[in-house]
Amino acid sequence: MKKGLLIILSGPSGVGKGTVREELFKDESLNLAYSISMTTRKPRPAEREGIDYFFVEESEFEDKINKGELLEYAKFVGNYYGTPQFYVEQLLSEGKNVVLEIEVQGALQVMAKRPEALTIFLVPPSFEELERRIRGRRTEAEEVVRERLNKASKEIATKDEYKYVVVNDDVLIAKEKIAQIILENI
Ligand code: 5GP
Repeated sequence: MKKGLLIILSGPSGVGKGTVREELFKDESLNLAYSISMTTRKPRPAEREGIDYFFVEESEFEDKINKGELLEYAKFVGNYYGTPQFYVEQLLSEGKNVVLEIEVQGALQVMAKRPEALTIFLVPPSFEELERRIRGRRTEAEEVVRERLNKASKEIATKDEYKYVVVNDDVLIAKEKIAQIILENI
């Protein structure tokens, strides 16, 4: 069976990676599978274990790092986030196109290990709009919001490392652009 395509969907926190990803997954012609990440962040109210993330303690996460079980990982605003390698390999060998929705430090690690990966960076239409979206979540303290915004401007500066940059102004238009990119690369 033909191996699937490894797809990195990255972009600053708040740009709408999750919403665009949900739209992409409605399109069955893309044959996508989502790589569920592991994190030490506490779950937000609507988040579910094993669907949105695997939520773990720091000691368990560090154990996975030491055993080399993560394809990539990063510390982001005080918490660890990482991609369990086993599941990604399994899905790719089943012919699935596997989406990693990850931040920039992790994306750069995967690019170094897997130069063939399809890499897509989502940008907001403007920084003001990004701030509005991050604040609109209303789940985080002001200090965390500021930290995420500060991080976002540094993340946007790395966009030229990616094969494709897509503006997320309208979710459905961004989804269509990305679907086209994926179909051209399968
Ligand atoms: P959040 O706390 O908003 O869910 O995620 C914070 C950031 O971490 C987002 O940019 C998200 O895409 C990213 N992220 C989620 N999972 C992973 C992962 O497995 N690895 C890396 N490097 N970043 C991740």
